[in-house]
Amino acid sequence: MGARTGAEYLKGLQESTREIWLGGESVTDVVNHPQFRQTAQAMAHWYDLQFAHPDQLLIKDEETGEPINISHMIPHSREDLVKRGEGLRLISEQSIGIMGRTPDYMNVTFAGFAGNPSDWRGPSGSNEQGARNMMDWQKRLRRNDISTTHTIVHPVVDKEKDSDFANNPVPLHKVGETKDSIIVRGARLLATLAPFADEQTVYPGHPLPPGAPTSYAVSFTVRMDAPGLIFLCRDSGARPDANPLDAPFSTRFDEQDAYCIFDDVEIPKENVWIDGQVEVYNTVMMPSSWWPNIMQQTTIRALTKLEFAYALASRMAEIVNDNREGTVDKLGEILSYVDATRNALDAAVANAKAWPDGNWFPNPRNLTCMRALLATWMPRVNDILKDIGSHNLLATASRGQLDDARLRPLIEKFLPGANGISAEERSLIYRMAWDFVGSALGARNELYEKNYLASVHTNRMAAHMFYSHEQRKLGDQLVANMLADAKARAAALH
Ligand SMILES: Cc1cc2nc3c(=O)[nH]c(=O)nc-3n(C[C@H](O)[C@H](O)[C@H](O)COP(=O)(O)OP(=O)(O)OC[C@H]3O[C@@H](n4cnc5c(N)ncnc54)[C@H](O)[C@@H]3O)c2cc1C
Repeated sequence: MGARTGAEYLKGLQESTREIWLGGESVTDVVNHPQFRQTAQAMAHWYDLQFAHPDQLLIKDEETGEPINISHMIPHSREDLVKRGEGLRLISEQSIGIMGRTPDYMNVTFAGFAGNPSDWRGPSGSNEQGARNMMDWQKRLRRNDISTTHTIVHPVVDKEKDSDFANNPVPLHKVGETKDSIIVRGARLLATLAPFADEQTVYPGHPLPPGAPTSYAVSFTVRMDAPGLIFLCRDSGARPDANPLDAPFSTRFDEQDAYCIFDDVEIPKENVWIDGQVEVYNTVMMPSSWWPNIMQQTTIRALTKLEFAYALASRMAEIVNDNREGTVDKLGEILSYVDATRNALDAAVANAKAWPDGNWFPNPRNLTCMRALLATWMPRVNDILKDIGSHNLLATASRGQLDDARLRPLIEKFLPGANGISAEERSLIYRMAWDFVGSALGARNELYEKNYLASVHTNRMAAHMFYSHEQRKLGDQLVANMLADAKARAAALH
């Protein structure tokens, strides 16, 4: 089949009878529901975009020759990475990076898994069948242009006791088996894009704690309409009745996040990637090629958002003629984040290499640092926007007020920008900024950025634990040299 159109995607969504709860309502038709329909349209746009820009966004499936989205590419060269980067950039610009989990996110993740099957076979090769199922799934994903969500994190109940999996029935685990399927029970979080996905994937976020029963080592994909699969959405940040000029993001880009309960769900065995192999579960997400692969997508998304924020902040300052030293300093701060992010991306591609399975992935060292850094830079950029905007973020005329014949001249007279900038532009820009950082969706987005690829804490620890040995070689030598030099000079004193 290959790439789908937006209309085909929406039809598939309507035909699926998933159990999506929003507030007290079980939503049967997400395509037409007031809180979901605009994001469903944004997703349809994601699908249509590939046909509008086929040179940038479509490639040929290596086996069937069908057109598939560029995010499914398993890169074979540096040129492939450059081409994919340009396509991902175009995609991220559609939502200014606000929708972090459009299908390209999972597509790139699974292209990374499929590009390095040894990881899924496991350290001792104990998971041959699971690895084959994973490769088959990636073919199905790319050839059917499936929209996928993922839950990789265990729920928190009691931070002191949660690691005692033997006595913790909450995390997802296997409770039974038939000839053709396994049966799973428990919960996982947090399925971003759940109302707009066709399938839900489950794979490890962290290794299991020591002593955890093997039944907790499960990984698979499951259709969103599987009986017993229940999604509890957070309150919506969508503003379906607002004018897009008043709320450009909340009227289109609330991708939703949902807590996921598996109430004894049957998973066909061909969709199971790990079934009790703890050694595979605990190692498959170790820093490997999939990791810098997905970091190219996520860092491009972040760069788009940072570039937008820099221009927005600069325009906000211009509108009120704010040239104070402190403001210029903050604008320069955002620009330094923009440039460092772009440099990391460029370096990761320039330093890319072939991995043992023969495929090319970006250089991990250039991108690993970005995980923890972006999780602190993004909230900092929001703070800067709020500092520069201050009360002006709230002192804005709405579209309806600007269109009112009595109010319009008063607004033009009493709410103008500096240097001849119109009251209308002032309101539009500051409302856009408020929707970006201050609306319900803006607040959610900030939390998202802090947890986008695990917490800052987890990322800093991972950077030190996994890369310390390699990264310290030069530093250790410098420490040794300095010590030797100091000893020699001290000895010479006597
Ligand atoms: C909006 C949003 C969307 C999400 N979407 C998805 C999704 O689509 N799929 C998915 O699987 N997951 C999703 N998640 C979940 C996300 O993956 C996790 O929230 C994230 O990985 C953090 O989980 P963690 O276990 O790493 O948290 P932790 O590392 O436990 O961090 C939680 C908090 O505790 C702090 N902390 C950690 N360790 C310590 C310590 N020793 N002492 C003190 N403080 C500490 C951290 O700094 C952080 O503030 C989403 C989360 C959010 C907020």
